Amino acid sequence: MTNVDVERLVAEMTAWRRDLHAHPEFGFEEKRTAAFVAAKLRAFGLDEVAENVGGTGVVGTLRRGAGNRAIALRADMDALRITEQGTAAYCSTRPGTMHACGHDGHTAMLLGAAKFLAEEGGFDGTVRFIFQPAEEWGKGAQAMLADGLMERFAFDEIYGLHNMPGLPVGKFETRPGAIMSAEDNFEITLRGVGGHAARPHAGNETLVAACATVVNLQTIVSRRLSPADIAVVSVTEVITDGTRNALPGLARILGDARSFRPEVSARIEEQMRTIAKGTADAYGCAVEVNYTREFVPLQNDPALVDHAFSAAGVVFGAENVGVAAEPMTGSEDFARFLAHVPGCFVFIGNGTQSAPLHNPTYDFNDDALIFGARFHAEIARQRLAVPDAGQ
Ligand SMILES: [Zn+2]
Ligand SMILES: [Zn+2]
Repeated sequence: MTNVDVERLVAEMTAWRRDLHAHPEFGFEEKRTAAFVAAKLRAFGLDEVAENVGGTGVVGTLRRGAGNRAIALRADMDALRITEQGTAAYCSTRPGTMHACGHDGHTAMLLGAAKFLAEEGGFDGTVRFIFQPAEEWGKGAQAMLADGLMERFAFDEIYGLHNMPGLPVGKFETRPGAIMSAEDNFEITLRGVGGHAARPHAGNETLVAACATVVNLQTIVSRRLSPADIAVVSVTEVITDGTRNALPGLARILGDARSFRPEVSARIEEQMRTIAKGTADAYGCAVEVNYTREFVPLQNDPALVDHAFSAAGVVFGAENVGVAAEPMTGSEDFARFLAHVPGCFVFIGNGTQSAPLHNPTYDFNDDALIFGARFHAEIARQRLAVPDAGQ
């Protein structure tokens, strides 16, 4: 790309990103965003643009040459139910909803890559541009897959990226194997007999049992998992039906567990059920455990990580490409695609001054746009190399 091309693309992507930022939409409600994306892809001259894939998902297809391989590049489009506290001119026009995870930036970067590749080509085969809904819920990828994504828009491998606050702009990180965790949610419901605060012995109140359960759950990671396994079990809410002078007959304990292997997730659930039952029995309460798996662990394919490093070296410079030191205990819906094809998920710097993700003052850093767009375009070109280019 010449400097003029870069400047023009950056200006366009910045305008798109700020427009999307001002009009955030929650998962599966991305109607305006999806229409915006589809209109742009059609304007760029893509071969096919399919809307309403898995609800509000959009898939653009671009073909060049005679190659029969296809690679997918994926962005997420949804916002969060957070009220923005930023002061930018383009801040959210929708109170209670904001792009606090930078998916506005991810969408703008993938649009930038689509525009560049549509204009410049330089690859042989098929590129699928996947704009998925509802990443934050962990439901959008499954919705697209259930709607026939793999059958209707076949591809051999998939790449995705996320911005990373704290990592300088122009830096790139990924790692082979586990990079982001599974997320499981749990709800433990204790039932007993509440009553007068002055007469606890007359019933089986549930609050002390709930507190004991919360403490006992702390032993799952510390005493029931191998020290070699990374996991987190967090209780986030305890809710009762008690009041100041009445003991509760109902207590609900809610929380979230993270892990990187299905065996570990299964072990956490098994131990949680044992502890909940044993503790409830000790306090004379009945208990029910509802344990659900919201996100699966994200496992990067080692060969594709090498390909990503190769493309990132061209875009970021080899000295700015690193191996993430540790897997992250955050979760990503991108992992669902990897049950079907190998994939690689990467992080790009959002700057050292960036507010954390999901913070009401967070904003995507527009300086990162060109890096993401060029990475997408470069990986497509390298993985669908034109035969005459000598590869
Ligand atoms: Zn998020
Ligand atoms: Zn995100």
